[in-house]
Amino acid sequence: MIRVPELIERKRNGGELSDEEISELVLGFTRGEIPDYQMAAWCMAVYFKGLDGRETHALTDAMIRSGETLDLASALGRRVVDKHSTGGVGDKTSLAVGPIVAACGVPFGKMSGRGLGHTGGTLDKLESIPGFRVELTIDEFVTQVREIGLAIIGQTGDLVPADKKLYALRDVTATVDIVPLIASSIMSKKLAAGADAMVLDVKVGDGAFMKSLEDARILAEQMVDLGRRAGREVVCLLTDMEQPVGAAVGHALEVREAIETLTGEGPPDFTELVLEACARLLALSDLEVDLEESRALATKATTDGSARTMYDRWIRAQGGDPDPDALPRAPVQREVVAEHAGIVTRLAALRIGVAALELGGGRRTKDDAIDHAVGVVCSAKRGQTVEAGQVLADVHARDEDSAGRAAAAVFAAYEIGDEPPHPRGILLDVVG
Ligand code: URA
Repeated sequence: MIRVPELIERKRNGGELSDEEISELVLGFTRGEIPDYQMAAWCMAVYFKGLDGRETHALTDAMIRSGETLDLASALGRRVVDKHSTGGVGDKTSLAVGPIVAACGVPFGKMSGRGLGHTGGTLDKLESIPGFRVELTIDEFVTQVREIGLAIIGQTGDLVPADKKLYALRDVTATVDIVPLIASSIMSKKLAAGADAMVLDVKVGDGAFMKSLEDARILAEQMVDLGRRAGREVVCLLTDMEQPVGAAVGHALEVREAIETLTGEGPPDFTELVLEACARLLALSDLEVDLEESRALATKATTDGSARTMYDRWIRAQGGDPDPDALPRAPVQREVVAEHAGIVTRLAALRIGVAALELGGGRRTKDDAIDHAVGVVCSAKRGQTVEAGQVLADVHARDEDSAGRAAAAVFAAYEIGDEPPHPRGILLDVVG
C-alpha cells in the first residue's frame, strides 16, 4: 500500500516516484479511495517539480488502464489515424478535416471533448446542428466508421475514466497548465481509442494553454515520446493561437465556416491549417502517399465536391440536418468598426474567446447550458489594412445588452497601428 502524503512530499521535494507508486495513485484516485485534496496537492507538487519521461509514461499508462480500450484498427481491418487539438479559439478544424480525410478514402473515427474555459469543444459545435447525436454506442461508432468512413462522438466514460476525474479536479485547482499532465491527459485518450498514428495540433499563444513556442515544443516532444513508447507515430503541428483561427468564433457560426471550407471557400488561415492537418494524416495513413501527394488529394476533395458530400452523409448518419440554413441564428447582430485607418497589429484571441463565452457560448460551471447561436465573426485579421469606419467584426447575441458588452470587448481585442506586425503564418513548426 502506498502512503499518499509521503508521495506528495517526495514529489514536492523534487524526488521521483516509481511506476508502481504512480499506478496505485492514479487507480486509487479513480476508484475514489484517494481523496481529491491529496490528488490536488500531488498535481501542485508536479507543477513545481515536474515529471520525467519515465514518470509521464507511467502516468499515461495507468490512466489508460483505469478503463476500457478500443481497438478500432482491428475492428476496421485498416490502419487508423486520429487528430487532436490542445484547444483554442475558433478551432473548428476537426469539422473540416474529418470529411476531407474520409472523402480521400481514409476512415476517420474520432472521440472529441467539450469546451474548456474560453476554448470551444468540437462536441458543442456539433450539437448546434439540429438533431445531431454525439452519443453513439461503441458498436454504432465502429459501424458508422466502417460504412460511411466518418464518425465523431463524445469520449465515452468507459475510456480513461481517470482523465475525466483528474481533469475536473485540475480545472478547479489551478493545475491545468502543467506540461506532463496535459501530455498524459491527451495521449492517454488517443492511445486508448486505438489510433496507429496521430496528428496533434498544439496551439501556441494568447488564446492557448501554451503561451510560448518554447513551452509548446516541450509539450510536443513529450507527446511524441509517449507515442513512441507506445509504438505509435505522432506528428505535432505547432500552430498560431495569438488570434482566433479563421473568422468565426461560436458554435453554429463555426460549423457554417467549416462547411464553406469544405468547398474551398473558407478563410485563408483556417484553410491552410485544415489542408496541412489533412496532408499529414493522409501521409500517415495506409494510402501510401507522400506529403505532396496527400496535400493534392486533400485539395482535390475541396474542389470536386467530395468533401461536402461526405459531410452531408456523415451528419445525416448521426441524425443531423446538414443544411447550413438549418443552423440556429442569433436574433441580435452588432457591428464593431475601426475608429481610424491603419493596419491590424493585434487581435487578442483570449479576449475574443472570453467575449464568446460571455455571450453564452461557453460554460461557467460544468452543468451550464450553452447558446449555440451566439458568437463573434472577426472579418479583419492581423496584418490587414482597414479604413476608418470599416467593419472589423460582427457580434451575434441573444439580446441588446449582451451584444453591447461583447462589442466593447471585441473592440478592445483589436489593436490598429501604422506598422505591419511581424509576419507569422498559422503553421509555426512541426515536431515528430
Ligand atoms: N486537453 C486535454 O485533453 N487535456 C489537457 O490536460 C489539456 C487539454
